[in-house]
Amino acid sequence: MAKADYYDQLGVDRSASTAELKSAYRKLAKQYHPDVNPGDAASEQKFKDVSEAYDVLKDDQSRAAYDQFGHAAFEQGGAGGQGGFGGQGGFSGFGDIGDIFEEFFGGRGGGPGQGRRQPQRGDDLRTQVDISLQEAYDGTERQVNLTRAAACGTCRGSGAKPGSQPTTCGTCQGHGKVRAQQGFFTIERPCHQCQGRGQVIGDPCGDCRGGGQTRESRNLSVAIPAGVEDGTRIRLSGEGNAGPNGAAYGDLYVFVNIAPHGILRREGADLFCAMPVAFDIAVRGGTVNVPLMGNKAVKLSIPAGAHSGQQFRLRGKGMPVLRARNYGDLYVQIEVEIPTGLSREQKKRFEAFADSLDDANYPDLAAFTDRAEKS
Ligand SMILES: [Zn+2]
Ligand SMILES: [Zn+2]
Repeated sequence: MAKADYYDQLGVDRSASTAELKSAYRKLAKQYHPDVNPGDAASEQKFKDVSEAYDVLKDDQSRAAYDQFGHAAFEQGGAGGQGGFGGQGGFSGFGDIGDIFEEFFGGRGGGPGQGRRQPQRGDDLRTQVDISLQEAYDGTERQVNLTRAAACGTCRGSGAKPGSQPTTCGTCQGHGKVRAQQGFFTIERPCHQCQGRGQVIGDPCGDCRGGGQTRESRNLSVAIPAGVEDGTRIRLSGEGNAGPNGAAYGDLYVFVNIAPHGILRREGADLFCAMPVAFDIAVRGGTVNVPLMGNKAVKLSIPAGAHSGQQFRLRGKGMPVLRARNYGDLYVQIEVEIPTGLSREQKKRFEAFADSLDDANYPDLAAFTDRAEKS
């Protein structure tokens, strides 16, 4: 039999607002709630149906998927099946139904619509690698060592001794949850016996003692691309911890930490360098060598009369742009260095030279003196 339309289940128009959906659902859920209709199978089914319909339609993303693909959007292997909306933070089945009960029954009721917990993928792991700016420029590779939870090879993560099978938990009959009456309310709790898995291991695997997991030491090679930025996160899919009961592995996140460089400061793909320039070069003009990445240098012409704080841009001499062919720029800000520690002879020569200078050689000073006299 074809599944009824979710909008029809809730008795609302396809254009219904989120508030209208919620109000329709609350009305129907109260009417058909199993606690209100004990032992009434038809009500229970109706309750399940409206809960399912509301759970899909209340979320914009899953509602859009339903509008486009219908029920097929939420079937295994369908357009929105596992890996589609099943991802973390996305549409996640019927996990939120309990919220509504908290609102109007005062306790976390759960519902018959809630199935046994699906196997969850394993935890993500994180680690850090330290590299130099030079390595960030060139791209590099790092070995990372880590210990993770792996699916037991002997039982393939099931925890059951090879040849035996996990059996249905007797306490919860495989539901993974147990119900308890508390006054007027029926409360559901994860089953203590099976930790909510619905299955128990009668004959545990000798290698993992029934846990389904073993510790595993891994040595991984991580490729770090040229142009990587400080704090970049590289994801190694499936290199995290194994999930429980043979479920999928989580991911490994490698955070890249770039050590500060001795003379270069980075902003995005651009590099900045504050460079002292000899007094005489600044006076007469000349060429200086600007140190670059990879022990290379580039020549920079300093014009006669250059002053401290002046900035020069060397196009394409910055960092490579991540996953692109272009480079940022290098900005060189010069600091004119005044010679110190002069000998007597040097001082004498300098005085002779200084005496030859006049206002034409110091236009800024002349203008300043002029303004000071007039004010
Ligand atoms: Zn095992
Ligand atoms: Zn159980």
